[in-house]
Amino acid sequence: MDRIISADNSRDFQETILTNALHILLEPIYETVPRMRYQMLLNELDYASSDQDNTCRRVVIRGLFDSIDHLTTENYRCGFCDVCVPDLKFKLEKAAIPLQDAQVDEIAEQLPDFLSEFDKKPLQELLDRTIENAAVPGLLARVSNRLEGDSTNLAALYLAGALSRKRPGREILAFEYLKSAFNEGIKQGLSPDNLLLFYEEAVQVNAEKAFTWLTEVGGYWDNQEGLQFLIQEAAQRFGIDSKQHRILLLVSQVRNFNDVGDDFIKLKPKIETLKQGFERLS
Ligand SMILES: [Zn+2]
Repeated sequence: MDRIISADNSRDFQETILTNALHILLEPIYETVPRMRYQMLLNELDYASSDQDNTCRRVVIRGLFDSIDHLTTENYRCGFCDVCVPDLKFKLEKAAIPLQDAQVDEIAEQLPDFLSEFDKKPLQELLDRTIENAAVPGLLARVSNRLEGDSTNLAALYLAGALSRKRPGREILAFEYLKSAFNEGIKQGLSPDNLLLFYEEAVQVNAEKAFTWLTEVGGYWDNQEGLQFLIQEAAQRFGIDSKQHRILLLVSQVRNFNDVGDDFIKLKPKIETLKQGFERLS
């Protein structure tokens, strides 16, 4: 009898180990593979809608398939696609060869290093150079392509969000990239200062929605110091009469009141003792 129970226990134990092991193995797959598939679809949609901001189809295609050290600027016109020639009456026999731009090519060359780790300042500087040199669609195509195989790369998510914001009609997509970056940043243990980089980009698209990221219960800013930062941010961003500012002030007041209440509870036994002492004296 003991042996049967022991065999059953052993089988249960093995099943538990197997279930846990499968869970550990499959969880990352369920988490990353659907995101990678969605990213592929998003990239196809981005290519299909590149006519919306009059970007030559080849700028996006070359962003994906060109050599790693070259990017095509948004001023390029191939003369051989439906955006460049909407009536499809092509006058060229083949697509125009893009001009080489040393400064733009430097961005392309540096990109792999910038994506290898999340470093706020160099990323912001790369973003500024990309905008100045009119390389937004090309670099966006390249970083979104990176996300197809590396969907949790924070630097790629940040650049995809910030660059999408610069292309007309892609505000919702930009916001979603930045939201993914913010949530993924929390999972990867990014500092609050770095998380604010995603927020600061996202508030340019939808300030009210982005602000709710910071006010999550149990989040980085759900403490006394964080609350003071949020009150200041709400006053600057939305004004002192805004709903956000008034609610946060109220939260601060309630917390202060609770602290006073807690102090009172701690003092209560001592007050009781004193009271009894005075009663005895009288
Ligand atoms: Zn074209």
